[in-house]
Amino acid sequence: MIGIIPNSREMRKLLTGKGLKPTYQRLMIIDYLSKHKENHLTAEMIYNALTDKMPMLSMTTVYNTLGSLLNAGLVSAITITGTEIRYGFITKPHHHFLCRGCGSIIDISVTCPVAERKVIDGNRVEEIHGYFKGLCKKCLRKRRKQKGPSSCLNSIRRNKHERASRKSTG
Ligand SMILES: [Zn+2]
Ligand SMILES: [Zn+2]
Repeated sequence: MIGIIPNSREMRKLLTGKGLKPTYQRLMIIDYLSKHKENHLTAEMIYNALTDKMPMLSMTTVYNTLGSLLNAGLVSAITITGTEIRYGFITKPHHHFLCRGCGSIIDISVTCPVAERKVIDGNRVEEIHGYFKGLCKKCLRKRRKQKGPSSCLNSIRRNKHERASRKSTG
């Protein structure tokens, strides 16, 4: 783990296993993605995170590197937010859940009956992306704590009322 190229052995194996030369850029980017699996990052986020350690890094290099990692199937590109491409490290095929509350993108494993069929109407399926959207469990917990079972507006009214009654009694 010590050294300029982190985790190099494992990541090197991963790259060479897919027929990719383990270049410094590829190693740094795949390593960074593998350590931030839960976030699914944009190319800009990757660039901003690594530019201190790699002063020669450019956005073009980030895009090119991500392109080769994508082709090799080591990284997935998802467009779940509808406004940007987020890159994630792949260990095995999975779907994604976008939280509308906090914007988290969470890996989910759902057994998809379609995934079992490799050919549909004569077309060969190579990738399947499922995008699920809603509220993550953290946001749900927060909301339950803040608002209780009633609506947002009611709880604001209630809080005001409570404050007013506290003032009058205290
Ligand atoms: Zn959330
Ligand atoms: Zn993912």
